[in-house]
Amino acid sequence: MQEDAALPELIRLEKNKELQQIGNKILHQERLTPREGVLLYEQGSLSYLGALANGVRERLHGDTTYFNRNFHIEPTNVCVFSCKFCSYSRLYAHREEGWELSMDQMLDIVRSYEGKPVTEVHIVGGVHPKLNLPYFIELIGKIREIRPDLHIKGFTAVELDYMFRKAKVTVEEGMQLLKQAGLQSLPGGGAEIFHPEVREIICHDKVDAEGWLRIHETAHGLGMHSNATMLYGHIEQYRHRIDHMERLRQLQDKTGGFNTFIPLKFRNKNNDMSHVKESGIIEDMKVYAVARLYLDNFPHVKAYWPMLGRQKAQLTLSFGVNDIDGTIDDSTKIYSMAGSEEQRPTMNTAQLVTLIKQVKRKPVERDTLYNPIRDYTDIDIREIELNPLLN
Ligand code: SF4
Repeated sequence: MQEDAALPELIRLEKNKELQQIGNKILHQERLTPREGVLLYEQGSLSYLGALANGVRERLHGDTTYFNRNFHIEPTNVCVFSCKFCSYSRLYAHREEGWELSMDQMLDIVRSYEGKPVTEVHIVGGVHPKLNLPYFIELIGKIREIRPDLHIKGFTAVELDYMFRKAKVTVEEGMQLLKQAGLQSLPGGGAEIFHPEVREIICHDKVDAEGWLRIHETAHGLGMHSNATMLYGHIEQYRHRIDHMERLRQLQDKTGGFNTFIPLKFRNKNNDMSHVKESGIIEDMKVYAVARLYLDNFPHVKAYWPMLGRQKAQLTLSFGVNDIDGTIDDSTKIYSMAGSEEQRPTMNTAQLVTLIKQVKRKPVERDTLYNPIRDYTDIDIREIELNPLLN
């Protein structure tokens, strides 16, 4: 892919010499240091960061913007942990305020997609004290029987850590068992902010950074891919965000198993951190841009539209993002409970494609592993709306 010819000129005109140097490093595809990462946050203007990040995005992917057709299963929001930012979970003692889907209810969700061209089921939820590794192995096996064509992506490292400890198996043994049952990749949740100065305050009792990274490293070692998230915009400082990305970059150097990085915006409704102000749109866009610049070994940066809202997700496509997640469905509760703009997070393919085309990018449906399925660039929206196989 060709870089925008205006970019070298923009870098030449940058008055801050350090930022100019960083711009030249980006242009020559050189790796940024942690100090340079922090400097981008502290001193980079939004327009400069956006132009640099967009340059990297277009070098890697041109205008291609990926999405997938998936659905979510959230087995429960009952959770043994008490993360301060969480608006979603209920302790076991208050489980009547939450939900616990039975195996049959979850399988009915899978059956309800029969004949629909979804390619992935995404399974995440709270860490329920009564559910265990054999139960989830059974669930995966049954989903496989109903829809052998679906890619099963499931369980954050937080859920897996608890499952494995409870079953008294090592991470290697547990991951092997889940892989044999049919689990194919891991989502990126539970990473939050790795640095203990922040993690101790916002989620002290769940798996630490080393544990999270070890689970993903083990999955990569078994040939499984995974994603990584970062919960930003609460009490963390810039150096914590860079430390977080630095740890991910180092693991990616070692394994190459991460597909995509997903910044997740902290929302302050209905949780123990409601006094913390949410980040504004300028900061949101900076987070995406710096991620694209710093994580030079991550192929993709994704905006999770149910959390960010549709218009902001559209905007991120000019700040380094090349993936806008999936069609999802309206059972996704994690962000609607935290006060996100999207109270009913569901979009059909025609809506997703429209969103991408409105900002002059190329919508391409992908599978979980980023194999292209269909390029929608030249397909008319009306045709998509009328064809159930396309929509
Ligand atoms: S963020 Fe996850 S682990 Fe923490 S309380 Fe909520 S559901 Fe439980």
